[in-house]
Amino acid sequence: MNEAYNVAQKIDVEIRKLTDIYIELIFKNVPLPILNALRRIIQLEVPVMAIDEVIFYENSTVLYDEIIAHRLGLIPLRSEEALDKYGPPEKCIKCMESYYAEASEEAVERPSSKDCENCFIYIRGSVENLDEEELKTFYSGDLLSDDPDVVPVYKEIPIVILGPHQRLSFDAKARLGRGIEHSKFSPVSVAGVRYVAEISTNSLDDTNLKDAEKCLEYCPVKILEISYEDKKILVKDPYECILCMQCVKRCPENSIKISYRKDQYILFFESVGQLSIRKILLTAIDIFINKIDYLLQQIKEMR
Ligand code: SF4
Repeated sequence: MNEAYNVAQKIDVEIRKLTDIYIELIFKNVPLPILNALRRIIQLEVPVMAIDEVIFYENSTVLYDEIIAHRLGLIPLRSEEALDKYGPPEKCIKCMESYYAEASEEAVERPSSKDCENCFIYIRGSVENLDEEELKTFYSGDLLSDDPDVVPVYKEIPIVILGPHQRLSFDAKARLGRGIEHSKFSPVSVAGVRYVAEISTNSLDDTNLKDAEKCLEYCPVKILEISYEDKKILVKDPYECILCMQCVKRCPENSIKISYRKDQYILFFESVGQLSIRKILLTAIDIFINKIDYLLQQIKEMR
């Protein structure tokens, strides 16, 4: 227990890059499997809202109902407040299963509207192209949500182009879900953990110095330069290195050595927009802690 406490004392986290939708964190003294578990939780277990069921009333556009429903499902919806407002995905999935079971005429009780309270919200769409000649595009921004906190993140996503006099009308149900169920419920477009390079360089003689000038061109992230004073290759930012080993292959022998650190890793992810970077990270950490608590509890019960 003491040892675990000491390890926790040495843990260090630093923000390396941060924008509205992207973050890179340097974790020091955190084992790689732990970071990989966090990455998987970010990608697959942090819930977000997405459209999951569409009831079409009218569709005379050139696209089938299924294609439009698929497109609607992939529209990112703001979910920051929804995490506290709506029921957990597991509850909604149970509702859906009962619903479909009933549809296939099995004797399963359909969830009452009370059961589904705080599970779904309706997002509605209704459009008609009244023009005789011009085409009309129906965008994500044209959707009408029953909850002003759950609206499309991006307003300019085209859903369907309507020809003259074509009509489309539907009600869509949006609910919370997790990426493990379908990628439309993932809050991130990418989440990864990468190694941190450990780069060492040696002095060069005059002939090798000229060759080194050319070989630096091959570095895809342009972090290498020549120091003519020290007669060696300089590394501007080792955290940018993607360990492609091009410099080792192209530069004079033994002028540069690349390995990776065993005490540092970079966790990075990009938000699709439903949740802020902060909310994704904090929710993922909460889920992680709950899982560890559950595991501890199970182990205790086994004793
Ligand atoms: S390993 Fe690749 S990215 Fe890293 S310094 Fe060498 S060429 Fe650049």
